[in-house]
Amino acid sequence: MQRGGELYSGKAKSVYKTDNADQLILLFRDDTSAFDGEKIDQLDRKGMVNNKFNAFIMQLLEKNGIATHFESLISDNESLVKRLEMLPIECVVRNIAAGSICKRLGIEEGIDLKQPTFEFFLKNDPLHDPMINEYHIRSFGWASTEQCQQMTELTFKVNEILSNTFAQAGMTLVDFKLEFGMYQDKLLLGDEFTPDGCRIWDTATREKLDKDRFRRNLGDVVEAYEQVAERLGIELD
Ligand code: ADP
Ligand code: UDP
Repeated sequence: MQRGGELYSGKAKSVYKTDNADQLILLFRDDTSAFDGEKIDQLDRKGMVNNKFNAFIMQLLEKNGIATHFESLISDNESLVKRLEMLPIECVVRNIAAGSICKRLGIEEGIDLKQPTFEFFLKNDPLHDPMINEYHIRSFGWASTEQCQQMTELTFKVNEILSNTFAQAGMTLVDFKLEFGMYQDKLLLGDEFTPDGCRIWDTATREKLDKDRFRRNLGDVVEAYEQVAERLGIELD
């Protein structure tokens, strides 16, 4: 599959057209960013690790009944995906309090939630991805009631599947973000699932194995992503 013109270049991935109007190539770059692009760096191997990590997770989700945009891995850093009309919304599920919910609600990091919680955010970097509710989404036409229901249900279902997967490998899925889009009137999971967009802790030691290592200057960022991949049985080389 030949890469056509660039459609979009984001903070960590670039999106290219292909000769099929219904398909795109996602290029996972080594660029990494945090705090809405205020902190940026290049991390050797990260693009390759995330591309293969994402392929593994998307295929696992497909096997478990979640429809995704993923088609195939086409190189170390590229995947072929269905072209979606993305909804400008981020769906976050949390099992343990960390990150923005701690700041917003004055909660201590690491508290187990009595049940997983769900939040919508508007995908808008200049506004720092503000938290929004379903009424905002419907009032401004960012998605329909049905799409909101489907995104919520699917995100909780992904949480069940992946929490089990990580638990079996001695890791805890703390929280994660998903993005969805429309493909021929069907809502599909798009974008990526990688350690860039979730929090994963070693269950025994609570060591952070995700992008918080970059956010907090803990070092060994890609080494931690590789460790997670290895523990899940993902082949990188
Ligand atoms: P950001 O836009 O947040 O900086 P990325 O660097 O990851 O993020 O850029 C990838 C972009 O591609 C995102 O805006 C994402 O919404 C979009 N995208 C992901 N999957 C698809 C898809 N299947 N079809 C169209 N756009 C997609
Ligand atoms: N997240 C993401 N992209 C965003 C915002 C959040 O991938 O633009 C992920 C983040 O890595 C974490 C989860 O969503 O796993 C919840 O993020 P949070 O709201 O705590 O924000 P943070 O403090 O991480 O910016």
